[in-house]
Amino acid sequence: MFAPQNADLHCHSTVSDGLLSPTELVQRAHAHGVDLLALTDHDELGGLAEARAEAEACGMRFVDGVEVSVSYCDQTVHIVGLGIAPGSDVLRSGLDHVREGREGRAQRIGEELAKIGIRGTYEGAAKFADNPELISRAHFARYLVEIGIARDTASVFDHYLVRGKPGFVDHEWATLKDALDWIHASGGVAVIAHPGRYRLLGAEMKALFELFTDLGGEGVEVVTSAHTPQMRDQFATMARRYKLLASRASDFHGPGESAVDIGRAEALPPDLIPVWTRLV
Ligand code: AMP
Ligand code: MN
Ligand code: MN
Ligand code: MN
Repeated sequence: MFAPQNADLHCHSTVSDGLLSPTELVQRAHAHGVDLLALTDHDELGGLAEARAEAEACGMRFVDGVEVSVSYCDQTVHIVGLGIAPGSDVLRSGLDHVREGREGRAQRIGEELAKIGIRGTYEGAAKFADNPELISRAHFARYLVEIGIARDTASVFDHYLVRGKPGFVDHEWATLKDALDWIHASGGVAVIAHPGRYRLLGAEMKALFELFTDLGGEGVEVVTSAHTPQMRDQFATMARRYKLLASRASDFHGPGESAVDIGRAEALPPDLIPVWTRLV
């Protein structure tokens, strides 16, 4: 069986909120020694064909993926689908529905920021998005950096775009059940993305893992750029407890913006069963 030496199972292209085209992203992954790559744009499959073609040209294994936005306990939770079939009607129509809400949400973010005197941000953010259906807070962050509101995108998030800050608006994404149903209907495996990022109480996190496993979810990102070493250990324990497969991911968005480059995340704890055993 193929055993990858450097699997990276979560990253973004310009099709959602990444800075590199699918081709450029695959070339960078190849240059960094990645031998199994999944492209997981937010709520969209449009980059997969180009990425797969380039991966094949480079002789690199490629997994079709997606990162689905979900609402859970007043939080946005991300579920990565790996090994999905891009032609699946169930998955495509589910994602169409999730994307429908993004543009209106972005307009509301613009209105909220205008209330504190920062005007024109919807139009500004839209310039950074290839597709208005996929406009994201990351595009607002880039625009706010461009106009000098903050020095980097991380501080824009901290001061303007997270719950409790002036540019945050509530939004209803997919349900956890819908996301898992769509991923499974398309033949994929479902993975909880960057669980350390969610502001959930201990009991809520436990309930998330219980509901996820009850719904047939298969994996969890143990190693991801969003995790501190403590979070990595915490979610390695959760993977063992809930018998989940472990994923390794950079969640790379672009050079200069992402703390961990593509293919440069640390290794998984050796006793965990990697999710790629289900993919290759
Ligand atoms: P959205 O899907 O519009 O809510 O945007 C979420 C995206 O914003 C994530 O996928 C990241 O790319 C980015 N993001 C979220 N939180 C942060 C943060 N604290 N710092 C930098 N980027 C972030
Ligand atoms: Mn993103
Ligand atoms: Mn995410
Ligand atoms: Mn991501």
